[in-house]
Amino acid sequence: MVDSSKTSCHKTKLGKPMYRISKRFEISGAHKLNLSYESKCQEIHGHNWIITVFCKSKTLNAEGMVVDFSHVKKTIQGKLDHKYLNEVLDFNPTAENIAKWICDQIPCCYKVSVQESDGNVAEYEVDE
Ligand SMILES: [Zn+2]
Repeated sequence: MVDSSKTSCHKTKLGKPMYRISKRFEISGAHKLNLSYESKCQEIHGHNWIITVFCKSKTLNAEGMVVDFSHVKKTIQGKLDHKYLNEVLDFNPTAENIAKWICDQIPCCYKVSVQESDGNVAEYEVDE
């Protein structure tokens, strides 16, 4: 039997416990950006945004979860999927602004990443 008191991963040495979950899903939609410079992004165009929502909590809810994965997806997809984002959001729908808006919608969310296209990712994170 392993004596856990001698291993470096003994739970009392790991600090305060924290549960973390992440949920990844896709949103199809269209937007155009309001920019102060010439850009093709000012014209309406579409994306398949790949969203990753990160949540954490020191305790679990009555169901034993930080937050229900399907609740995260349903909340965001219900508002943004197959929509013209400029019509459903009241801000310039850049990937950065979308990331912050998503973070604000989900309880216990501390980070959101929004991949707009291959190689283009914006992240929003709440500092502790
Ligand atoms: Zn775009």
